[in-house]
Amino acid sequence: MPHLNNSPSTIFISITGNVLKKIQAINGMNDLLPEDSALWQYLESTVATCLQSYGYREIRFPILEKTELFKRTIGEVTDIVEKEMYTFTDRGDRSVTLRPEGTASCVRACEEHGLLYNQTQRLWYAGPMFRYERPQKGRFRQFHQIGVEAFGFQGPDIDAELLLLTARLWKALDINDDVSLEINSLGTFESRERYKQALVDYLTAIKDQLDEDSQRRLQTNPLRILDSKNTETQGLLTGAPVLSDYLCDVSRAHFEGFKAILDAAGVTYRVNSKLVRGLDYYGYTVFEWVTDKLGAQGTVCAGGRYNGLVEQLGGKPTPAVGFAMGVERLILLLQTLNKIPQSIQPVPDIYILVVGEVHPYALTVAERLREHFPHLRCLTHCGGGSMKSQMKKADKSQAKIALLIGDDETETQKVTIKYLRENKDQQTLLLADAIAQLTIILEK
Ligand code: ATP
Ligand code: MG
Repeated sequence: MPHLNNSPSTIFISITGNVLKKIQAINGMNDLLPEDSALWQYLESTVATCLQSYGYREIRFPILEKTELFKRTIGEVTDIVEKEMYTFTDRGDRSVTLRPEGTASCVRACEEHGLLYNQTQRLWYAGPMFRYERPQKGRFRQFHQIGVEAFGFQGPDIDAELLLLTARLWKALDINDDVSLEINSLGTFESRERYKQALVDYLTAIKDQLDEDSQRRLQTNPLRILDSKNTETQGLLTGAPVLSDYLCDVSRAHFEGFKAILDAAGVTYRVNSKLVRGLDYYGYTVFEWVTDKLGAQGTVCAGGRYNGLVEQLGGKPTPAVGFAMGVERLILLLQTLNKIPQSIQPVPDIYILVVGEVHPYALTVAERLREHFPHLRCLTHCGGGSMKSQMKKADKSQAKIALLIGDDETETQKVTIKYLRENKDQQTLLLADAIAQLTIILEK
């Protein structure tokens, strides 16, 4: 879990005698502490390996963009643009926004650099996103996403590939039993508009019974009413028109093709006709991977097709599909399910004890070892201290062996190998012989 910033004492007296308040992080923005970073690195590298195996390449774009980019792509009446964006005016009097998601920037960058011209692209990105939401479990103001986008592919095969990829990832992370897939088709823009009208007609007749949020959405973004969290509104939706009845033949065939690939690959799913997603730019396929292990914030990965977006940003019409996963929620899930591999905590192979005078020799030995063993994790004791206290630290580090370098060793250009996890006598050897001995030990 990200470390929640709640230091015990917020007031202190400075050396000049002033009463000062400690400066703390902004609410909803978390520090990632060393004890948790190994888990993040494990998750990130597992995802990267999986993406590479499908031929996806990384793209990086800025954290700050012109506000217009998000307004035009995400949609003026979505939650994100209406109330969640970190928008401010910079010193040049331009309105800029900390990115609330990656798709818009990804399309902007691809267009700007001609990556979509007569070619397909399989891309991914990772990094912080910013949304001014109420901080709670699984919901932060700075959070992290890993996103994947594929451009230039019209057919449902790529939509399915994205889900096969995620299913493989859940297996690699050993959380496949605890996430499930929900899919839906939003159809073409025209079929969605026809459905929207039917839904508005149905709901307008019972407007007074809807919750306040849904009443507002009836004017602005009626499809979002479908995923209202209000149980009474959900009850009222039972008799509402269903989106799938409004799909045209082309989107129906696309959805059938998509499902056929999932079926053939053994990826199980549930068709959820109320799944609409919060952003304006989706059409055809939409999907979410959800878990019931995290409470209300149960969506760990979500996405869909957005064929109109590239054109909306001034490019040629380009089919596109993608998704983003919430890193904090996946980390929380790994922790909740206790699916953290033992081997991810970095344990040093060797702990070097430097006893007596600090001679340059000790650090030179460490460098020689690193040259010889490229993957070696070697911790050199710095700052002096008794042999006993250094041994304690070496033991606590869980290193297999300690190398003792004292005055005698320095004088004779030798090192003493101490076995910390085996009942074996220590050995004092010339460095070359010690390296030969370490080769055997480290390979074990
Ligand atoms: P939600 O319905 O939870 O608000 P969303 O539809 O706004 O999600 P997307 O924009 O699709 O979310 O983002 C993709 C994923 O990013 C989400 O499924 C979730 O895992 C994660 N995510 C979104 N907002 C946050 C947040 N504020 N804090 C942490 N993770 C988030
Ligand atoms: Mg949201």
